[in-house]
Amino acid sequence: NKYIVIKHHIEDAPKEAIFELKTGTIALSVAPGSDDIIVKNLYISIDPYQINRMKLSSSSQGTSSFAAPINPGEAIDGAVIGKVVASGNAKFQKDDLVLGVFTWAQYSLVKEGSILRKLESSEFPLSYYLGVLGNNDLLRFNGLSAYAGFFELCKPQKGEKVFVSAAGGAVGNLVGQYAKLLGCYVVGCAGTQKKVELLKKELGFDEAFNYKEVKDLNYALKRYFPDGIDVYFDNVGGETLEAAVANMRIFGRVAVCGVISEYSSGGRKASPNMLDIVYKRISIRGFLAADFLNVFEDFFSKTSDYLRTGKLKTIEDISSGVESIPSAFVGLFKGDNIGKKVISLAEE
Ligand code: NDP
Repeated sequence: NKYIVIKHHIEDAPKEAIFELKTGTIALSVAPGSDDIIVKNLYISIDPYQINRMKLSSSSQGTSSFAAPINPGEAIDGAVIGKVVASGNAKFQKDDLVLGVFTWAQYSLVKEGSILRKLESSEFPLSYYLGVLGNNDLLRFNGLSAYAGFFELCKPQKGEKVFVSAAGGAVGNLVGQYAKLLGCYVVGCAGTQKKVELLKKELGFDEAFNYKEVKDLNYALKRYFPDGIDVYFDNVGGETLEAAVANMRIFGRVAVCGVISEYSSGGRKASPNMLDIVYKRISIRGFLAADFLNVFEDFFSKTSDYLRTGKLKTIEDISSGVESIPSAFVGLFKGDNIGKKVISLAEE
């Protein structure tokens, strides 16, 4: 059974060299009387927040208390879709499709009390349930983050002006698409020309730009939003948040979903102009998708309908095999992924 561990805690930008591919053995049957389940993993979700669990500070200072630290040498866990190979738990049968928090491995031993549920519906490709349709009792869920962060926090109105960062990523591309479906004017920023083209030509964004090629972000935003921004969906923090705040309109709303530019120690911490926030009465609010499980049914049925009718496009970036996990993970911090990053491990 191949699986991935970290050799030591991450102190700076993540590098492939900190990961190690290990091989172990796992019994593909359960002992009589045991509640264990053995799962053959099919798809693994690769998520930026995991870096915060891999830092030394996450174990020593509890800064990442919403998710347990990942320690060197220990199997890493994350959101996974798999198929039950053997079960001692009466609620699960062999061949059931399951979603849960399992190890970054070919096979996982899942103990009673783990985050685990049956995947009842498989109308869509399985990988969608880790991304666009991200399910409700997993730790990270892109679809619900985009939906709840945009609609519940920002309370957007048709015609409002919306700015999204990391717009070519898993959460960002969905926020932009939801905003277009509502009838907003939407501008996204991303780190490559390819993503910029995707946003404008395939996903219907009104404008998009490559922030790495912009000398003055403040000036760029003034050009795209001459009358100011009503809603900023923040995935990156840092100077992008500062520039967005400087360009917000009165009563503007900022949903802080993540601050990926600040996850590495070299990242500049955002320091938005507080006087702007006061005078323009701007609301800035962080959130976790898990705060919005109450809108999960609404999110899931609307998003499924949008997918069925082709109103929403799914952008996925799929690599194969456990061996590809380190580069996939590190790639999130270099902007390699386009859309939701998923690892495919086995055929159903
Ligand atoms: P993405 O698919 O968006 O992948 C990360 C992207 O971030 C990269 O592709 C890259 O795109 C961009 N990026 C990386 N480093 C930087 C940097 N230094 N400055 C600017 N952009 C950078 O990931 P997700 O959609 O899964 O997550 C997006 C954000 O949302 C993250 O901050 C994540 O932690 C957060 N999140 C929060 C959740 C919540 O419940 N609050 C749930 C899920 C995610 P580019 O080419 O544009 O640089």
